[in-house]
Amino acid sequence: MKSSRRLSGVFASLAAESPAAPALLDTNARVEATRRDLEALAGEHSLAYQQRGLLPGHRVLVLVHPCVETVASLLACWKIGSTVIQVSQAVSQQDCRDLATLVGAQWILDARIADASAALQPTGVVGGDGTVEDALLVMTSGSSGTPKVVRHTHETVLAGCTMVTNAWEVTELDRLALALPWSHVHGLIIGLLGTLLVGGSIEMHEKFDPEVVAEAASRGATMFYGVPTMYHRLDRSGLVDGLRGLRLCVSGSAPLDSGLSERLATNGVPVLERYGMTETLLTLSNPLHGERRPGWVGLPFDGVQLRIASTGELLVKTPAASPGFLAPVAMELPVDEDGYFATGDLVEQDASGWIRIAGRSSDLIITGGVNVFPAEVEAVLLNVAGVADVAVAGRPSEEWGEEVVAWVIPIGDSIDLEVLRKAAEDSLRPPARPKRYVQCAEFPRTELGKVQRRALKG
Ligand code: AMP
Repeated sequence: MKSSRRLSGVFASLAAESPAAPALLDTNARVEATRRDLEALAGEHSLAYQQRGLLPGHRVLVLVHPCVETVASLLACWKIGSTVIQVSQAVSQQDCRDLATLVGAQWILDARIADASAALQPTGVVGGDGTVEDALLVMTSGSSGTPKVVRHTHETVLAGCTMVTNAWEVTELDRLALALPWSHVHGLIIGLLGTLLVGGSIEMHEKFDPEVVAEAASRGATMFYGVPTMYHRLDRSGLVDGLRGLRLCVSGSAPLDSGLSERLATNGVPVLERYGMTETLLTLSNPLHGERRPGWVGLPFDGVQLRIASTGELLVKTPAASPGFLAPVAMELPVDEDGYFATGDLVEQDASGWIRIAGRSSDLIITGGVNVFPAEVEAVLLNVAGVADVAVAGRPSEEWGEEVVAWVIPIGDSIDLEVLRKAAEDSLRPPARPKRYVQCAEFPRTELGKVQRRALKG
């Protein structure tokens, strides 16, 4: 593989073209690294890593933190031809050791340590046959099945970033306020790398703070990529106005409630909802120009083909698809004879080809022989006054096979369940009406804020 086709090669070209352009900024929009700074630091780090013994094809577990050092460390690893598995700083030492063993990572790198040779430490793991083609190994959230380690090559990352930046017209003039964790594809690949690879810049947020993000536009940010929980918090804190100045606000990774989406649009923030998976990167999006439909995820990006199986399952074929998994079992991405990957999401398609995600097939509740998707019930209950959040799942029931249960977070201390029952009776077909309601203070969630339904069911 030519090193110019590596992600680090693209960064090097950008640094040569516009060395003084800002790349990474702090939350007050102070430039922390220009393109030249980033390239120089990545060069220094890669020398230090080589001296420590890092080789092409080696795998490095990188504890990512939103800072210049992390980006320089990734670039340095890629310059050498090694593969990065990005891990949240929140992961315990034992989990890191287990993960290193699982993926055959010979090295662990703590990006918070400025001294590059001290930052990179051997794990003692004897690695497998790594390849210089692989840029990243990404953990899926596990919210939708068994946790997997997904391979992404330099080519698939570039393909995935290019289709998104083309569709959303991201350029060197853009600055993304990035408050998503850097340990997932949405934050690291689509957000960070996507923006930097077209010459844009990143305002780095360690964690999501509605006030700080709502001020981003006033400091020069042009885009914000979030997940539904972030938009819920912005909405509840009454700070949505601040996002009006941004040219693009994106939501994804979980369904954005259509009531919330409509409210945001009425407030001058027409959020663009998109859809994708760790395995395929992004595949569907509402349009940048023209109507954005709440509750729908739009049409395929250029280069993405889709089919819908007779079961309603969405199948996709994309140049950004992972070549396969490294763990729990090393295997190629399972695709059908025409190259389509089964997403596990059940969808609806309208006459103009637009797609709406009904839910994951594994979340489908079959109650008394009737299919109920959690989203259908959640959308109704979320709009009841006094409800902060709702999650719905099926629990085994002798009578119904499965019964619909709603877990509700009230805005105050508690909520009158009769109000919820009445709303369900008024707006839901009988099988979709929850048989039980459980009040709680929080849901088990992934780092991205996705509700973990299996943990919820206990
Ligand atoms: P992950 O691989 O952890 O990013 O999870 C991918 C899954 O998240 C998809 O298969 C969908 O079930 C869900 N997902 C992603 N984006 C959306 C969206 N906009 N609406 C509904 N579900 C989504």
